[in-house]
Amino acid sequence: AIPLVVAINTSLAARNGMLVRDRIAMEDARNLDAIIFDKTGTLTEGEHGVVDMATVNGVDEDDALRLAAAVESDSEHMIARAIREAADERDLSAPDATAFEAIKGRGVRAKVDGNEVYVGGPNLLTQLDSEIPDHLQRFADEAGQNAQTVVYLVREGERSEPSDRASGEAASRDGELIAAFAMADVIREESYRVVNALHNLGIEVAMLTGDSQDVADAVASELGIDTVFAEVLPEDKDKKVQELQNQGKLVGMVGDGVNDAPALARADVGIAIGSGTDVAVQSADIILVQNNPLDVVRLVTLSKASYRKMQ
Ligand code: ADP
Ligand code: MG
Repeated sequence: AIPLVVAINTSLAARNGMLVRDRIAMEDARNLDAIIFDKTGTLTEGEHGVVDMATVNGVDEDDALRLAAAVESDSEHMIARAIREAADERDLSAPDATAFEAIKGRGVRAKVDGNEVYVGGPNLLTQLDSEIPDHLQRFADEAGQNAQTVVYLVREGERSEPSDRASGEAASRDGELIAAFAMADVIREESYRVVNALHNLGIEVAMLTGDSQDVADAVASELGIDTVFAEVLPEDKDKKVQELQNQGKLVGMVGDGVNDAPALARADVGIAIGSGTDVAVQSADIILVQNNPLDVVRLVTLSKASYRKMQ
């Protein structure tokens, strides 16, 4: 599915698992001032597991997990996979859900038992204007400090009857946050060496993610990353590339997802990594066939070696 691969230093690049779609980008790679990495699945394994959960008063954990698994039953996202696995591990079967919809960079939603139910990150809560109860906020803060990604389960209750309203409970039932899940992802071992090597080459290392500021900061400080862009919506990712370009920098971007495509296209050197999605691959200048972030370093050194010789 890789169109128009232009080969430069074909054998050398190909032997290193690099497909060059734009030879100018291959040449520019040696002059990069900054490289931005997508976090999830690039610097981290991208394989989440649910490590903890919390619910609001009166909500049973198993019920919350069942409901979350139902909403996630149609999603390919690793967060969805983790939630479904957590439900499986407890032998919980998810109720039927319909009307699945992915909300880009925020989460997913579906209809369960006549209610709109959502699972998603902090960006979703902002969109739904949901309030976080104190104890769930503490749960999220603690998880964030441990670099765990938190997603929330939100249910929009049926419009309440006037009789309910008289009881004073009515208003709080709409868009009610009912549970939070903490998921652990793991930093890839190679990522430490990548950041070090790029620093040694004088290249600034940045990270771009839709995940929370807490998680992003924890991963960045662990790896020694210079610049962090967190809680970025898919439609804003390319603006972060531009932000560095506006500082006069030649910017590389490394990503794999559909969400990364505009940023890959915007970057001076767009690098799709791993199997990638077709959209990412088609927006990139260079494709790193293996899912190994160390190939980004090899790309820069190969570019330096090749073009030095030609001058
Ligand atoms: P990244 O930018 O780290 O690659 P994505 O753009 O895929 O992440 O997702 C951004 C955020 O949106 C996630 O961190 C999560 O909070 C939320 N999200 C996306 N898809 C889902 C899903 N299926 N279930 C729950 N949350 C999701
Ligand atoms: Mg991604």
